[in-house]
Amino acid sequence: GTAPETRSFEADVARLLHMMVHSVYSDKDVFLRELISNAADACEKLRYELLSDPALAGDDGQPRITVTLDPEARQLIVEDNGIGMSEVELAEALGTIARSGTRAFMERVAAVREGAKEGEGAQLIGQFGVGFYSAFMVADRVDVFSRRAGADVAAHWASDGLGSYTIQLVDIADAPARGTRIVLHLKEDAASYTEPFTAQRIVTAQSGHVPVPIFLKEKPDAEEKQIADGAALWTRPRSDITAEEYADFYRSTAGQFDEPALTLHYRAEGLHEYSVLAFLPSMRPFDLFDPDRAGRMKLYVRRVFITDEAQILPRYLRFVRGLVDSNDLPLNVSREMIQESPVLAAVQKGVANRILSELDKLAQKDGEAYLKFWDNFGAVLKEGLYEDFARREALLGLARFKSTASGEGWRSLKDYVEAIKDNQTAIYYATGADLDRLASSPQLEGFRARGIEVLLLTDQVDSFWVTAGVDYQGKPFKSVTQGLADLSLIPLAEGETPAAEASAEVDGFIAYARDVLGEAVSDVRASERLTESAVCLVAPDNAMDRQLEKLLAGAGR
Ligand code: ADP
Ligand code: MG
Repeated sequence: GTAPETRSFEADVARLLHMMVHSVYSDKDVFLRELISNAADACEKLRYELLSDPALAGDDGQPRITVTLDPEARQLIVEDNGIGMSEVELAEALGTIARSGTRAFMERVAAVREGAKEGEGAQLIGQFGVGFYSAFMVADRVDVFSRRAGADVAAHWASDGLGSYTIQLVDIADAPARGTRIVLHLKEDAASYTEPFTAQRIVTAQSGHVPVPIFLKEKPDAEEKQIADGAALWTRPRSDITAEEYADFYRSTAGQFDEPALTLHYRAEGLHEYSVLAFLPSMRPFDLFDPDRAGRMKLYVRRVFITDEAQILPRYLRFVRGLVDSNDLPLNVSREMIQESPVLAAVQKGVANRILSELDKLAQKDGEAYLKFWDNFGAVLKEGLYEDFARREALLGLARFKSTASGEGWRSLKDYVEAIKDNQTAIYYATGADLDRLASSPQLEGFRARGIEVLLLTDQVDSFWVTAGVDYQGKPFKSVTQGLADLSLIPLAEGETPAAEASAEVDGFIAYARDVLGEAVSDVRASERLTESAVCLVAPDNAMDRQLEKLLAGAGR
């Protein structure tokens, strides 16, 4: 061993820990889920490394997680025989904020602080589940002993969660033969976690379906008993699995806290064989619009976890959680080579198509549930309109819009086209940041007067896809703020008065306005757009839409 070396946490970790320690979040049970999920990840990482280096298994090849209770010492211990961590890895994993989720969490907390809503920071812990550090909700000291697979040294990390931690090499007898032991010195008010009934209930409820068996020891010297079998849930027949089991699995593997809005479990057979277990969240993940945010579908090959970076789904389906377990990808190729495999390409295609068709089914079957989904994730799905040409048709079919005709509800393009006016050749839209302001903008007057529906697009992404040459049933999308709005062929609705005939007087005024405004505008003209307002700004026919122009200016381009 070496002498303990004291190091400070990264500033962000210290802040996070401060929050954990002072957390009033009531559902502290989640710490156990986080530790077990890390232990299961570590076992799966080992399982993967064993493919290329079977010797790492030593004489302990079966992955396992053991939860040991010690009521007398008021300790709870979670041990795994997974991949383990070296001294350097310990300091990196448990001294910094590595994962983007935790970073996003901190940003949210900072935002909440500014908005100063009391207690909301604590609420957020529940929504985010901030991994390992959540141990400090229930413990006033945490010891981590770890020995990396294949290493002949072991390391010890310890902290009271108050700003610094110590790290040192220790005798290998003090650490597991392989893997990680996490010892929580429980706070007084968290002593109940050493009650066997409580601990078992929490573990089986939260983590009963992780793909690694879990054992419980009621006392350090007690016999251990198995409390979860580690059978991969997705290999069981659908009819055997309850909604509750699916939901637990979703929460324990996807790191979510909500109920899945939709569960999709099927087996693809034929040319390629694979199982899919996918979930649509019912709440927006916090990092949905993180620019680095990629999907998190896990890739397994014959029940061995390979990677969660295989980009199984297109970016615009990044909110989908779950896994694909392939029967025909080779186990012994590198993650990099898997990326290029035609088998993966077939899986990617099949799963994306299936998800879109399930969404379509949901829309037919349960409109209300679908609209809830759309409200959460529509803005992401619309990215596909310019990113995924092959599925544009399908995505347009799934899209729902606010419009001048939608009221409180939503409109599909099918609805729009069914209500289209005679001689109307385009699908009209207006883009802006705020729905109410958009709905009352003068540009819409002429359209309203003719009963022409205008889509009101308020998501950032809308400014991009509308310019990507999208059309629906042969009708192009056309901005109401752009170019000439040729509405003359469409009659006014009853009771509307036509705009003044272009007269010599109007021509005179236009000439005057052109003269005064000079370079500031590219043209001034009479318009059928307006019925009440005197003027409005529009973009030239072939120029950028005004909302897009604003967005790009905002992005500093
Ligand atoms: P996440 O699991 O999302 O990465 P955590 O805060 O839960 O975030 O864990 C941080 C990191 O610590 C993990 O990514 C992993 O590298 C490491 N880690 C935590 N627990 C273990 C463990 N039992 N075995 C090996 N590594 C672990
Ligand atoms: Mg974790």
